[in-house]
Amino acid sequence: MSEIIKQIDMGKSNAYLIEAEKGYILVDAGMPDKVGEIKKVLAEEDAALEDIILIIITHVHYDHVGSLSALQKKTKAKILVHENEKDFLEKGKTNFPEGTVFISKLISKLSNLFSEGKFKAVSPDIIINDNYDLKQYGIDGEVIETPGHTRGSISIIINGENIICGDTLFNFMPHSVYPPFANDKKQLIESWKKINDYNCQRFYPGHGSVFTQEKFIKTLNKKL
Ligand SMILES: [Zn+2]
Ligand SMILES: [Zn+2]
Repeated sequence: MSEIIKQIDMGKSNAYLIEAEKGYILVDAGMPDKVGEIKKVLAEEDAALEDIILIIITHVHYDHVGSLSALQKKTKAKILVHENEKDFLEKGKTNFPEGTVFISKLISKLSNLFSEGKFKAVSPDIIINDNYDLKQYGIDGEVIETPGHTRGSISIIINGENIICGDTLFNFMPHSVYPPFANDKKQLIESWKKINDYNCQRFYPGHGSVFTQEKFIKTLNKKL
């Protein structure tokens, strides 16, 4: 695992902390009441919450924005989200995306029925609808659009070889990184092809542990 990207267990999902020259960039904000997990990792670096300068939200699902409202209050960080996710963030609710296989289809239907997916609403500072360069924060990084899991899903390429990909790829099965939920399966595969063109070596998913390009390419080839 690359040193400049740290994985943080935020309950049901991962967040990532990236060290930049001007401070820290946090990717995603996990489940509620998880600010302490971020604090702990920062403390190991002799840093504090105030050192977070930017929070990038890969997509607005309750398990990725649960602690965002608390973080907004405790930091001066700007919050970045894609234009297609903005309304959900401001409303504090997102519907579950459709399942891609039988069991996740069922989970998706039930979750919407019981209106899961609520969180504390947040108003973002930076809204993007294209690539976004992270050079201004003192890092070789770029945010790219990777829709499919949701319409406004984004990923972050760091140093040209690492990709933090939110739920565009899931890593909890031994031979596949295909996500169990996606709003648009065709769009998802188009995003996978785009990711493939970047030729990244290490993948940092929203769920599961860090994995290599080999596992990604194996799953991609099965889906083409
Ligand atoms: Zn998720
Ligand atoms: Zn998701």
